[in-house]
Amino acid sequence: MPVEPSQTPADARRIARDDPAREAPLLPAMAVVKTPDFHVVGYSVAGEESVVQVPELNVVFDIGKCPRPALTSDFCLLSHGHIDHSAGIPYYLSQRFFQGMSPGTVLCHSQIAAGIEGILQAWAALEGKVPQHHIVPMNPGDEFELRKGLIARAFPTRHTVPSLGFVLLDRRSKLKPELAAQQLPGHILRDMKARGEEITYTVDIPLIAYTGDTSMGETLLQNSVCDAKVLVTECTFFDAGHKKRATVGQHMHVDDLIAVLPQLRNELVLISHVSRRTYIRWAAGVLSRAMAKMPQAPRVEFLMDHAQHLVVRPGKAASFAPPELPDKEANDD
Ligand SMILES: [Zn+2]
Ligand SMILES: [Zn+2]
Repeated sequence: MPVEPSQTPADARRIARDDPAREAPLLPAMAVVKTPDFHVVGYSVAGEESVVQVPELNVVFDIGKCPRPALTSDFCLLSHGHIDHSAGIPYYLSQRFFQGMSPGTVLCHSQIAAGIEGILQAWAALEGKVPQHHIVPMNPGDEFELRKGLIARAFPTRHTVPSLGFVLLDRRSKLKPELAAQQLPGHILRDMKARGEEITYTVDIPLIAYTGDTSMGETLLQNSVCDAKVLVTECTFFDAGHKKRATVGQHMHVDDLIAVLPQLRNELVLISHVSRRTYIRWAAGVLSRAMAKMPQAPRVEFLMDHAQHLVVRPGKAASFAPPELPDKEANDD
């Protein structure tokens, strides 16, 4: 609103305050989920964009269109190459380079590593250079050390293009129980180690598993996936009439998820990649009716149910408000 010359700053503030409330979304609706060990921050709608960041663990699963916060993770763990999951890769690598951050690292299926390099080379024709970067080709079962004691392990998923899920493992060395029971002093243990004796064993604690796009509930029953503290799984379709769509696109239908839910031992299951044509409140009802018949099931929530828009009202501090999720036809890659 233009300020009249006769208005004082106090007048302008009062007029702004009395303006009818206007709400303007400043950011895409990012979900923020607080768990006891870390936060899960992201946006995931089938066919549109999927990006799920765990800031404390320095990773972002898929990159979507690379929302600004995703730049802060040194590692991008890419589930597959569909553009709703991967479009932001060149921007992520270029911006990190431009802003003087360490080169970004992308873990991806070995069959798409050359394709990503090709995109970076093609972009160099526009930008004049290829940003420093690391592309790490992975196959199911491969491990990559993100930092000491934090391992990313790829697990197989099933989709229409080469795809992987990732689980992050907190890997610890523990003193063998028979030695711990003897309460040996430190210098004796050090001597044993110096002689080459194995005094420890390895314990892996699965922290979070991320499926990316996949069909078949059985995907979730793999070791370290079904017992990760947090499981982020796709579940694209909920409508009974969309089963064929799920089969063709190799996505999960809620019935696939319901079939395996009683066997999941996760503390929290976060559902991502829900189709735009699904109204979340209705989908939650479908799920809770099915779960009411299960004697044992984990806590299940929708990632995007935690999403909030940052909004401003004239004369007031910015605040968060839940978004309206549109309900319309779209692709489901
Ligand atoms: Zn896909
Ligand atoms: Zn997708």
